[in-house]
Amino acid sequence: MELFMPERVFFEPSSLKYPLGRELYSYFQDKNIEIIKTAAQNVSRMIPGTTEKEKYPRAKKTLVVTTKKGNRLDVCKPSADYEFSLVTNCPGNCEYCYLQTAQAFKPYLRTYVNLEDIFENIKAHIVNNENKITTFEVASSGDPLGLEHITGSLSKTIEFFGSLENARLRVVTKFDRVEPLLGLKHNSHTRFRVSINSRYVIKNFEHNTATFDERIEAASKIAGAGYPMGFIVAPIMMYEGWKEEYTELFDRLKKQIISVNSSEPITFELIQHRFTPTAKEFILKRFPGTKLDMDETKRTLKWGKFGRFKYVYPKENSGEIKEFISSLIKERFPEGVIEYFT
Ligand code: SF4
Repeated sequence: MELFMPERVFFEPSSLKYPLGRELYSYFQDKNIEIIKTAAQNVSRMIPGTTEKEKYPRAKKTLVVTTKKGNRLDVCKPSADYEFSLVTNCPGNCEYCYLQTAQAFKPYLRTYVNLEDIFENIKAHIVNNENKITTFEVASSGDPLGLEHITGSLSKTIEFFGSLENARLRVVTKFDRVEPLLGLKHNSHTRFRVSINSRYVIKNFEHNTATFDERIEAASKIAGAGYPMGFIVAPIMMYEGWKEEYTELFDRLKKQIISVNSSEPITFELIQHRFTPTAKEFILKRFPGTKLDMDETKRTLKWGKFGRFKYVYPKENSGEIKEFISSLIKERFPEGVIEYFT
């Protein structure tokens, strides 16, 4: 797929104190884009557009180069012990993306250049007990591979984790430019998951991300480079022909994921489609012609963190999804591990 290039970049003054901030500043000089030095609080109002539908796509082409503040890392269940960010948001436009609400009024991209501080903070969160491995998720607030051709920070992070004894990194992506990662000294300390879905879901709802074929190709290269490998199948949707299309997906994975890290099982994380009332509101404003099925009468309520609720498939449907997808996996990857279905 075509590599992302922002149409405007904001540099927060603090970012220029760090080597990566200065590198990015000089990298963008000869690109035909707007470069603005300003504090983060000015960014939202400087993005062109008046309505949500106009502003949203322009925000997704805006990059803010900044620093990560604060030392507290959030817990990231069920995927890892902690989460941290190299970037926030991504160049993709997935209609159902949970960032629609989590970053509701700031849907622009951010990259954090104080890698030295981020790495020190990770070290401080590792439990130094030789029987315990502490796991860190780097892609819960964005997709670092989507910006890797500009920042290079995911590569540095993978090699940093390669050098740590009691810590492991978990990455997930919907992008496909994995070439810079193939020769890294990852030491099998990074589990690289590719977010994958049926052709229908990718084509209709995951705009500006890698295609079905590109992602499988990327996964095959990552597996060949010896990374512990995984797949996130999300969001799983029921629609006419869903069983045939998910069968095609796992047939293709079986055919193309050949060379794998033999000491680490392939993992699978399964997440059914869900939406909240707030997300639905944003989605309808930003994608007025959406085909996403957000009919509350066909769903059931599930209570989440902080008393918020979301609409998920009713028990009989979610049970069918779980059973069907699990059997596709078990038949084709008997050594694989299904980590969770939610
Ligand atoms: S690739 Fe991931 S982070 Fe980016 S829009 Fe899609 S779901 Fe959201």
